[in-house]
Amino acid sequence: MPTDTRYLFVTGGVMSGIGKGITTASIAKLLQLRGFKVSAMKIDPYLNVDAGTMNPVTHGEVFVTDDGGEIDMDLGTYERFLDINLSRSHNTTTGQIYTSVINKERRGDFLGQCVQIIPHVTDEIKSVIRNIASKVEPDVLLVEVGGTVGDIESLPYLEAARQLRLEEGHRRVLFAHVTLVPTLDVVGEQKTKPTQHSVQELRRIGIQPDLIVARSKGPLLSGPKKKIALFCNVEEQAVFASPDLPTIYQTPMDLDDQGMGEFLADRFGLDHHSVDWSGWKRTVDRISNPSQVVRIALCGKYAELADSYVSVNEALKHAGAACDTRVEIEWIETELFENEPSNCKILSRFDGVLVPGGFGSRGTEGKIAALAYARENNIPTLGICFGFQLAIVEFCRHLGLNGANSVEINPNTPHPVINLMPEQLAVESKGATMRLGAHEIRISPNTIASLLYGREVISERHRHRWEVNPDYIERIVKAGGRFSGRSIDGTRMEIFEVPDRYFYMGTQFHGEFKSRPGKPSPPYYGLIKAGLDRKLGKTAPEFTPLIQKAVA
Ligand code: GLN
Repeated sequence: MPTDTRYLFVTGGVMSGIGKGITTASIAKLLQLRGFKVSAMKIDPYLNVDAGTMNPVTHGEVFVTDDGGEIDMDLGTYERFLDINLSRSHNTTTGQIYTSVINKERRGDFLGQCVQIIPHVTDEIKSVIRNIASKVEPDVLLVEVGGTVGDIESLPYLEAARQLRLEEGHRRVLFAHVTLVPTLDVVGEQKTKPTQHSVQELRRIGIQPDLIVARSKGPLLSGPKKKIALFCNVEEQAVFASPDLPTIYQTPMDLDDQGMGEFLADRFGLDHHSVDWSGWKRTVDRISNPSQVVRIALCGKYAELADSYVSVNEALKHAGAACDTRVEIEWIETELFENEPSNCKILSRFDGVLVPGGFGSRGTEGKIAALAYARENNIPTLGICFGFQLAIVEFCRHLGLNGANSVEINPNTPHPVINLMPEQLAVESKGATMRLGAHEIRISPNTIASLLYGREVISERHRHRWEVNPDYIERIVKAGGRFSGRSIDGTRMEIFEVPDRYFYMGTQFHGEFKSRPGKPSPPYYGLIKAGLDRKLGKTAPEFTPLIQKAVA
């Protein structure tokens, strides 16, 4: 079905990791605040069918959508900037494209033809993009092409984009190229040659970018800006500077200040709309100029790479902003506590402890030691997914169930307090077979969770294979633990609290995936507010109703 959608392709030059996802989300935001309906999608040129089987250390966090997609972390950035929920179909991969083409070939859809990258694969790519446009009907659909121009893998996508422009017309399809302008330390000069080369590469395959977003450490100087315009064959007003900023949430305003909104409306032939930045600016100010500080120890395994926990990081920032507080995060590799639990003492320097999600046994005993130390010393604590499961393990060991463990870690444990969910028993393949996506949870009244959420039924996103073994629930509750959130049918434990502690909570779900600037995730807000109130010497945390309004 033909739609009135305009398409903005965002490609990346020079190298990966320069913030193409943030640029895409920022452009989408400045269009959204102009009153346009926008949506965004990401194309990943790798052969995996989805991001679910990839190591977060090398690829970054696996983001989870409401509909259970295990997808690229850039989709999380889009959701946070745009405050919309995207479906899994907004992230496609070469694995999905080829699977679909090969299935069609086997079915006989191409009988008699030699099936080729052009046109069969490129047609498939275009139809995936157009399907989103006809389903969502946005005024502008941003399509971020993963990888770097010049990669073999991304060629079919760039070719499909080139064809789409030819078919839809140059007013309906624009190309934004995000590149890096490095500064040479020795001479302190901003160098444009990598940008020139990457645009040459793009032009070689038939794409002339309409605008260039130049990422740099400091402000882009006018000399290099002119040079980029000249050598890359764009007007100077089409070169946008994107220097590092104190917070990523400032980027949309920064690009708009340079005229990005008018530029795009002009090129797309869309009406000029005025833009009201006041709400977004308030949120950004709250994130960037807080008056207080709390320090959180993030006790995990992939401590070396912040991208592995990007949503956790952002959720902490959003929660901090709601408390007028900057959250200083220190990454702690829990193997440090493994052989020497007394190292846990360093946790006393923090206002809160967060044990995030994870898989496999390395570092696990260290996480359990951290949870024990935090519980015993009354440090506000939040366990997420694996962190929730290990908080149960720790609590059970403390109540005398020696050797209690998750079966994932020790299949022969005498007390399998975390066990496989019944539907997982027959599952053998690893791709997309966990309990995934949004599920409803019923919150018990008069609990910390009910105070934080202010609602009886909530919906949160999941990604796990194991869960609390019902055989142990009675013993846990008798010993002072509380399950304040359960699945609607009452069988799955979703939120754990230890009410006699200052703040001690675990959630089987990942609240971070639904946290947004201005709308923090309640458990994260609980951790930060409790950390702050304890630091201020209050006898108990004072949770304000602010959070209830924000999330309702
Ligand atoms: N490894 C645990 C499970 O599969 C927890 C997963 C997670 O933290 N995302 O249940």
